[in-house]
Formats: sequence, C-alpha cells, structure tokens
Amino acid sequence: MAFELPPLPYDVTALEPTIDAQTMTIHHDKHHAAYVNNLNAAIAGTDLEGKSLEALIGDIKALPADKQGPVRNNGGGHWNHAMFWEIMGPGGGGAPTGELAAAIDAAFGSFDAMKEAVNKAGIGRFGSGWAWVIVGHDGKLAITSTPNQDNPLMAGIADVTGAPILGVDVWEHAYYLKYQNRRPDYLAAWWDAVNWNAVAQRYAAAKK
Ligand code: MN
Repeated sequence: MAFELPPLPYDVTALEPTIDAQTMTIHHDKHHAAYVNNLNAAIAGTDLEGKSLEALIGDIKALPADKQGPVRNNGGGHWNHAMFWEIMGPGGGGAPTGELAAAIDAAFGSFDAMKEAVNKAGIGRFGSGWAWVIVGHDGKLAITSTPNQDNPLMAGIADVTGAPILGVDVWEHAYYLKYQNRRPDYLAAWWDAVNWNAVAQRYAAAKK
C-alpha cells in the first residue's frame, strides 16, 4: 500500500505566532506531500512497496542502488515531517516533566542547557537539515544533527544513530516567511510550539 500524507493533527493557525499559518500550509500540503508522492513513485512496482517506512530508511544501503537516493531523501522527508507535526501542538511550550525531565537533567545538566545545545546544533547545520534529541544505543539522551532529510534512524548514513524523540526542521522552508534569514530567532521561538506530552511518549517508547 502506498504511503499517505498524514493530516496535520491541528489547524494551520494553531501554532501561531510561533509558526505562521502560511508556512504551515505550504510546509505540510506542498513540501511534506511531495516527499510522500516522490517516495511512492520511487518504490512503485517494486517489492519495496510492502516494507514499512522504518524498514526502508533504517537500512538504505541494502536497497537497490537506484533506489537509495530517492528513499533516503523522500522516505527521510516523510518520516521527519510526520514526527515534526506530532511533537508540536497548540498550547505547547513550557518544560518537560517526569522521567523525561530527569533524563534531560542527567544528560545535559538542565533543560535550558539542552535547548541551548539543540539550538547550537541547528544553527551550526550548514544548508538544510535537522537538529535532534535521540535516545542513543546506551539508553542515554544525546543531541545530533543531520543534513538534508537524513535522520538518526539511518544506519550506515547518519553520524550518530538512535531513536529520535524530538527533531527541529532547519530547512529555510520551515521558517523563512516569518523569520527570513534569522534561523537563531526561529529556533529560540520554536520551543513555544513543542508538545512535551508527545515527546515524553516517544521517550517512554524509545528507552525500553
Ligand atoms: Mn520541512
């Protein structure tokens, strides 16, 4: 079965003023849709059609040579954006609580230190890409960044692999209409859109 564009789990205006409605509309309806459509086109008529998205992007180097680039870019784009919509939400922001907060303190010293490190990773990503908080293979939280639509699930491709629990899109298409060239301002504001309940659920699932 072909992959499908998941609907935004909230209205396009729901993340204003942090992310404006026009950016949300174009980002979801055009950019994310294109990744889904291009992924489906790349695998149509092959035995890759029966695989899960995680199976496809988790072992890209096992794919036929002519499929590796399209699946890496578009499968990654699909996975990354589906995650991105889910870890944001109306009434977001604030601080994580419970086990996630404790894990953040243990790994980074404080929530503020984690935010600073994620922002630094995002600002330092030349060109387009993502900054991530992952549960590493040692069970501890770590911060990494990937270019383009790569992500930490991509074994043999990502510098650091693990289970992403939070990722922030630093492609210009994610922020340019409102923040123009000011990626640091976008990153500083973006935390107000984070749905920490969703991130905590990802942490709970990943640490097992
Ligand atoms: Mn994007």
